[in-house]
Amino acid sequence: MRFFYFLLAYVSAYASDYTWSTLHASTSDPEVLKRTVSDYRENFPCLDCREHFEWLVSTHPFPLEYVRTPADARVWTWLTHNLVNIRLNKTWESFDIMTQCTEEHFQ
Ligand SMILES: Cc1cc2nc3c(=O)[nH]c(=O)nc-3n(C[C@H](O)[C@H](O)[C@H](O)COP(=O)(O)OP(=O)(O)OC[C@H]3O[C@@H](n4cnc5c(N)ncnc54)[C@H](O)[C@@H]3O)c2cc1C
Repeated sequence: MRFFYFLLAYVSAYASDYTWSTLHASTSDPEVLKRTVSDYRENFPCLDCREHFEWLVSTHPFPLEYVRTPADARVWTWLTHNLVNIRLNKTWESFDIMTQCTEEHFQ
């Protein structure tokens, strides 16, 4: 029984990891990014964020279907994160931040 609760906690924690860090880390393979985006569109826990993300992806200035390389994928997540930053009155970050972001995720 204790193992069941451990498993449930582990799966819940993993399943609720809908963060920028996870999205930025999925850019080494464009197909993985597309699957991750699809998961976020369906399951992002915050409803308002999910509806906005759904709208953003469907009206995106860099359509997801044009993302073909890991470099494209990095630009896509950086731009998307900035478009959400703008919506939340946060700072527009330079692309240089992507190096820091990916390094932090893999540490
Ligand atoms: C897909 C998605 C959609 C979201 N939509 C909403 C929403 O509609 N409404 C809402 O209230 N919240 C939304 N959020 C949450 C929101 O974006 C922040 O994650 C949250 O407010 C916590 O902010 P934070 O200050 O910790 O920094 P975060 O925005 O979470 O950023 C974490 C770190 O990433 C780095 N970073 C910042 N900008 C960039 C960039 N452009 N590229 C790369 N790295 C960057 C910085 O080092 C920053 O400290 C969304 C999150 C995600 C993952």
